[in-house]
This record gives sequence, structure tokens and C-alpha cells, in this order.
Amino acid sequence: MSQPVERESLEVDVLYVGAGPASLASALHLMNEVERFNRNAEQAGKPPIEPPTVLVLEKGASVGDHMLSGAVMNPKALRELVPDFEEQSFPTEYVCNYAGFWIFHPKGKLSLPAPPNFRKKGYHVVSLSNAAKWMGERAEAAGVEIYPGFTGDKLLIEGDRVVGVRTGDMGVDKDGKPKSNFQPGMDIFAKVTVLGEGVRGTLSKQLIQRFELQGENPQNFETGIKEIWRIDPKKHKPGRVVHGFSFPDILKRFHGMWLYDMKDDLISYGFVTILDAENPNCDPHLEAQKFKTTPFMKWLLEGAELVRYGAKAIPTGGLYSQPKLYVDGALLVGDSASFCNAQNLAGIHMAMKSGMLAAETIVEALHRQDFTTKTLGSYAERYRSSWAYDEHYQARNFGASIEKGPFFFAANEPFRLFLGGRGLVDEMKMEPGHTHMKRLAELPADEREKEPFEFDGVLTFSKEHLVQFSGTTHEVDQPSHLVVADTDICSDVCAEEYGNPCENFCPAAVYEMVPDPENEGKKKLYIHHENCVHCKTCDIADPYQVITWTPPEGGEGPDYTQM
Ligand SMILES: Cc1cc2nc3c(=O)[nH]c(=O)nc-3n(C[C@H](O)[C@H](O)[C@H](O)COP(=O)(O)OP(=O)(O)OC[C@H]3O[C@@H](n4cnc5c(N)ncnc54)[C@H](O)[C@@H]3O)c2cc1C
Repeated sequence: MSQPVERESLEVDVLYVGAGPASLASALHLMNEVERFNRNAEQAGKPPIEPPTVLVLEKGASVGDHMLSGAVMNPKALRELVPDFEEQSFPTEYVCNYAGFWIFHPKGKLSLPAPPNFRKKGYHVVSLSNAAKWMGERAEAAGVEIYPGFTGDKLLIEGDRVVGVRTGDMGVDKDGKPKSNFQPGMDIFAKVTVLGEGVRGTLSKQLIQRFELQGENPQNFETGIKEIWRIDPKKHKPGRVVHGFSFPDILKRFHGMWLYDMKDDLISYGFVTILDAENPNCDPHLEAQKFKTTPFMKWLLEGAELVRYGAKAIPTGGLYSQPKLYVDGALLVGDSASFCNAQNLAGIHMAMKSGMLAAETIVEALHRQDFTTKTLGSYAERYRSSWAYDEHYQARNFGASIEKGPFFFAANEPFRLFLGGRGLVDEMKMEPGHTHMKRLAELPADEREKEPFEFDGVLTFSKEHLVQFSGTTHEVDQPSHLVVADTDICSDVCAEEYGNPCENFCPAAVYEMVPDPENEGKKKLYIHHENCVHCKTCDIADPYQVITWTPPEGGEGPDYTQM
């Protein structure tokens, strides 16, 4: 928008951006901890804390709509937050009673003893979307306000202090002009702003860059493709949790799969591809489709019905990639701060615990009325003396070990497991995943072309087809929320050097090189932003780092109900 607009403003004590498990657990814990503080204060004859005003912004149309996870959840953090969660109708699908670790090969599958990181008996299989709705209801009942359909668009910063967030404008046309339904975003001022935007958060990225918070290693990522299928009841096994990989493909590229049974004869199937491929043709969606043609998956999905599709990136850097967690006026929680334990494919309990530790810090800040790093810095101390830090410490070299390739990983793994996460080298360095991508000319001739694969429309599907199962909708007449800084790079240098890998790594057919009528024989980039499933892969994997994912209008995007 070129003209200045008048904006409403709002003041709250604590503002959360993103209604994921990190923020929701934090907001609920904050309310509980304030109550506890005040009970103790009353007994000790000390002044209470004024009950805080707490607001959560969520870009999805309702809480849970943008949640996508496996998900088999370690219940540790939830038990601390709501000790009787089982009696309070928490939406567990099943409790894991079988934790398999399978190698899928061209003749069938081989079951191995599960390594420690995949021993998940007693963990809860959940739809994170449903779990977030459950947490959101509890937070609201405790006095937290939630605004779904509102995006955090810009950090408000005064000097070196975060003072709040500007929400996104609504009703702007594709040329950036206001439409008849134009509504300018609000300025929301807060004593503490907590960024719980999940992986590759927009404001979190701004904060990390502006305050130079990045950890010793860069943040690295995988992309997870998830499908829910309704299978033959005879093949359905309540409590089954399987992780595995396909052989011999694992010798070429690191990947992993999951299979969890859900209620109503549903299964959650997922395939995870690391975003550090040398080959620009690497395509997480295609890998997930190919895996379904292995004999066991073919058998399992025979006669089954596809119900949902989605994709999302997962932070894998771990401890050494974690940014500094606080600045004056703001804290980072959950995946936005790389809390996910990628070794265990487990981030829900880590996100919740980080949020809870942040909440305890905020109670201290409210008590002292000090929202500078002097008090907010105790979040990092709380984290260091928590089980979340111990868990991350055990997994500290996992991401870097994978980055060195399957052979190094296999050699390093025994040392890592028996030396408390140390491995052959500690601390292992990593490079950003996109820097691994080779130019086509650097690859052997037979690897330069994308491998041909025919989708059969029964077991395997194209991206265009699958996007319809993500429930994604975006208003077409709005500025593309996928901002490409220089599209000439796409037509010229990227086309030649890498063959436009955005067409491959995006799992939702957002990017397409189409003939350019003004330049005969050349192609130009067309962005189908309406297909975007908010996975953030493009923002991460682009070799020139010219793609920036920004939030579209609030309330748009995927509908990940059940995911
Ligand atoms: C494919 C996949 C499989 C996984 N499997 C498992 C598993 O089996 N077990 C497990 O424990 N963990 C698993 N994880 C990890 C786990 O899901 C995450 O670690 C966890 O969800 C992180 O929680 P969070 O609250 O930090 O972020 P998220 O859960 O990502 O929530 C962030 C929320 O913020 C909202 N948001 C983002 N930006 C903005 C903005 N600017 N304005 C407003 N709202 C915004 C989003 O819409 C979203 O609702 C998996 C992750 C993926 C992607």
C-alpha cells in the first residue's frame, strides 16, 4: 500500500503469534501460573499480580486449521500442563502399543528392533489439529482471547525493543490497491510478544535477522508429506506406530516414513525428505508417491480411499541451530526457535514445554514489571535446567550427522547413541541445506533429467490432484503472498543452472515456468499462489534464496481438519 492508512490500535499484556501447541500451552500455563502466584502471595500477605490480558493471533480460519503433524505425541509436557488430560476428553486417537521399525524393500518389508528414538509405546497418536482445538478451548476458558483469521504481518519495534505486532491488511487487490472490503491491519502493542509461528515463522525470521539471534549452526529442514487414508478395517491396527525407510534408496538419499493408525479405520501416512539434496530434481511429493508403490504400502492401500493431503517443513537443526530465545519485549517458542527434536520426529511436547517455560518467565516479568532481557533472559536459564534441554542435548549432532550422508551417518550412529549424543565429532557443523544443491552441469549426465513417473490416479497422484485434498483456498485477486525478489533470475540464470527446482520442491504445484510471449523461446515464472499449503518449503529450499513466504489474508490457506 503506497498511501498511509489509519490503523486501529490495541494494547494487551501478552501477545502470542500463532495458535500452535507452543503458544496455546504457554497461554494456558500463564493463566494457571498467575493464579498459583496469587494464591501464594495471598498466603504470604504479598501483593498479587493483576490478571494479564492475553491475546493469541492465528492465521488459520479457526484454531487447528493450519496444524499438520504426524502425530505420535510424547505426553510428558501435556501431563505437566493438564495432569488429568485423559479424563478431560483429550482427543487421543490411540495409545501406541506397537512401535515398529521397518525396512521397506522391493520384495516386502523387514522388521528391526526399534532404535531408542523410535520406541514410542505409551505415546499418544493424535490429530494435532484436534489437539490444538482442545487446548484452545481450555485456554479460552482460562481467560485467553484468541483471534483466528488474523496474521502477524510485521514486528513493531521501538529502538531495540519489540513493542508488538501489526496484523495483515485485508481486502487488497493483486496490484496492491484497496478493494471495497478493505480493512487495514491493527497495531497491537504488548509488554511481551511471544512468537510461536511454527517452522520458518515470518516474524521470527525478521526477529532473528534484525537482532542477529541465529545459533552456531544455520537452521535446517525436512519436508513432510502427509496423507490420511481410510483403509480396509481388516488391515487396521489400533495402537500401531511404524517408522522406517526404503532400501536401497536410503543409500542415495536420507528420508523416512511413518504409519500411524487413527480412529474410524483411518491411517496417517507420511514421508519425510531432507531439504539438502544435491540434485535440483529432488521432489518431496514424488518421493512420497513412489514410496506407496513398495509392496507393503500397495497391499495396505489396496481398495483404500484417500481422505486428506498436506505438507509442512520440519526444523531439523536441533540444539546448535537454536537462536537466542529472547530480546527486550519478545520471546521465541516452539518450532520458530528450532525446538523440534528431529531425531525422534517429535516436536509437540518440546513446543509445549518451551511455551510453558516462557509462561513462567512472563509471570516473573509481570511480577517485577520488567520486560527487558534482564528478566526475560531467565527463559534461557529455565530451558537449560529443564528436561527439554537434556533431550535436545542428546540429539544435538543428529541433523549434522545426517547432512554428512548415509555412510557417515551409519558409522557415526553407534558412537552418537552410546556417547550421549556426542558421536565422532562434537559439535558438528552444518551448512544451510540449499547450499548443497548442485548445478545440473555438475551432475552425472543420467541424473540431470527428472526421473519419469506415471501417477496412476488410484494409489499415486499428481500435485494438482492432491492439493484438492488439502482444502486450500486463497482469494486470487490479492498480491501473491509468495514474494520472489527477482523473477529474471528464474527465467535466465536459474533455468540454465538448476532447471527451476521450485517446480520440483514445492509439493502443491504453486510454481510453474510458462512460455513468455514477450521473449520467444524463453519461459517466465507463474505463481499459483492459491494452491499454497503453507509448508514453507520454497522459502527454505530455493538455491538463490529469493523466495520469501509471507502470510496471505487471514483465514486463508489449507483446511487441515483431522491432520
Ligand atoms: C510432517 C510432520 C510430522 C511431524 N510428526 C510429529 C510427530 O509425530 N510427533 C511430534 O511430537 N511432532 C511431530 N512433528 C513436529 C510438530 O508438529 C511440531 O514440532 C509442532 O507442531 C511445533 O509446534 P509450534 O506451536 O511451534 O508450531 P505449529 O504447530 O507449526 O503452529 C504454529 C501456528 O502458528 C500459525 N502462524 C504462523 N505464522 C503466523 C503468523 N505470522 N500470524 C498468525 N499465525 C501464524 C500457524 O498457522 C500455526 O497454526 C511433525 C511435524 C511435521 C511437519
